[in-house]
Amino acid sequence: QPSETIKNVLKNLGIEPENLGVSTGGDFFASGEEITSYSPVDGVAIARIRTASMENYQEVMEKAREAFLEFRMMPAPKRGELVRQFGLKLRQKKQDLGTLVSYEMGKSLQEGLGEVQEMIDICDFAVGLSRQLHGFTMHSERPLHRMYEQYHPLGVVGIISAFNFPVAVWSWNTALAWICGNVTVWKPSEKVGLCALACQRIIQEVLSENNMPEGISSVLVAGHEVGAALVEDPRCALLSFTGSTRVGREVGMKVAGRFGKSILELGGNNAIIISNQADIDMAIIGAVFGAVGTCGQRCTSTRRLIIHQDVYDQVIERLVKAYGQLKIGDPLDESNHVGPLIDTDAVAQYTKAIEACKAQGGEFIVEGGVLSGEKYSSGCYVKPCIAKVENHMEIVQHETFAPILYVMKYSELSEAIAMHNDVPQGLSSAIMTQNLREAELFLSHKGSDCGIANVNIGTSGAEIGGAFGGEKETGGGRESGSDVWKYYMRRQTNTINYSPELPLAQGIKFDL
Ligand code: NAD
Repeated sequence: QPSETIKNVLKNLGIEPENLGVSTGGDFFASGEEITSYSPVDGVAIARIRTASMENYQEVMEKAREAFLEFRMMPAPKRGELVRQFGLKLRQKKQDLGTLVSYEMGKSLQEGLGEVQEMIDICDFAVGLSRQLHGFTMHSERPLHRMYEQYHPLGVVGIISAFNFPVAVWSWNTALAWICGNVTVWKPSEKVGLCALACQRIIQEVLSENNMPEGISSVLVAGHEVGAALVEDPRCALLSFTGSTRVGREVGMKVAGRFGKSILELGGNNAIIISNQADIDMAIIGAVFGAVGTCGQRCTSTRRLIIHQDVYDQVIERLVKAYGQLKIGDPLDESNHVGPLIDTDAVAQYTKAIEACKAQGGEFIVEGGVLSGEKYSSGCYVKPCIAKVENHMEIVQHETFAPILYVMKYSELSEAIAMHNDVPQGLSSAIMTQNLREAELFLSHKGSDCGIANVNIGTSGAEIGGAFGGEKETGGGRESGSDVWKYYMRRQTNTINYSPELPLAQGIKFDL
């Protein structure tokens, strides 16, 4: 049984012991299998969810398509008004939703609340943007002609999200998709289905208070078969996929095969270069938070430290000391630094990676291990660990979604940058240095090859105002701020002739 506090949170968010996992905006329904959501915090069965069947999926897609025909004609600032109201409701529900995120996913309460804050921030961003969906005007080469470009809505935007950001990633996509005139169909990770149901209830309130038709925002709690159907469905104009590179590779190829659009936000293998000219205090905080925050389950978690030989021993000594002080336990208790992994499968992956690292020659300077005892009864708590490695080792080239930090040494910055870039992924990166030349080199064309490159900030976490995403096996997609909204619209170039002639472009003559 969940605690009284959690029961209250569930009640406030409309979560029952038994839930139906599908909605297009009206009553919830579902006729697929039933699943149970367990908390990695204490192993308690939080609630049950009946998932979507394939018939439910078809129903949702039809509703979405119909709603799009109406929604696309609503002026963008009016759609922005819906998003503004959504942001207001999120402010009221922040504590409850943040607590549910923490309890169902296992991240710290601070981070759970932080996720809801990101939702609020992207709403604010999208409201302003709803009056700024600008295109250019160009000067035509032909007399008495006008040329300009405009952006139109795409249609149904499918969102498939990962377990580690149960609410924020959906909101990054939806807030932009809606102001751009699209309708959204969300297939969240089945590991965090309750968070999705809570979000859907909040947006449904807004949509029904504004007498909007069903189908603008839909949710389908379901397994990967429904996700796969969305990927293959030509009615899904844009598919935004957040998850592992393994699944994302297949998703990307399938969507491209039907000439659909996709945004791929896949795995990272993020590194911090710690220069001999770094502020070491800052470097340690950035590295430790980056590696152990969210128990190493952020796509931007710090996986590798590339440390200058002159400060290597000092950094290692301080890291070992810092790891010795980490408190592991209930993430809802703010005095703990590290919570659990998502489930026991993730624990098995962590253990396997440690074994592989040892077999490949890694030397652990902070040992890992699975924790047991009453405080750790869910079986999902592990010790963050650190290994000395070589960058080329197979295990180091892979993303293990757990708090395992790899450390390595360099002597020249060019060598450090080469090591940094020598992995298949390209999401987030950082250099810790107080030397302007080093910082600028790291950000230059021959510096970091990642989508995110920071100076004197760790790899993890990002503000919604910038474009978020990465290169290479991270998928190349961008979400959130900057001009990312353009991904959610189709671009059209228009030429209008207001002369009495029909001059052809490039001066071509075609006399009849
Ligand atoms: P996952 O790939 O196992 O699952 C992601 C989603 O895909 C889930 O909703 C799942 O049900 C669905 N899915 C699984 N198989 C599918 C299929 N064949 N077709 C369609 N959908 C399918 O990932 P996860 O374990 O939930 O999340 C962790 C991964 O996500 C990590 O690799 C992490 O780096 C990545 N991630 C990336 C970002 C980013 O912005 N780059 C953000 C968060 C997480």
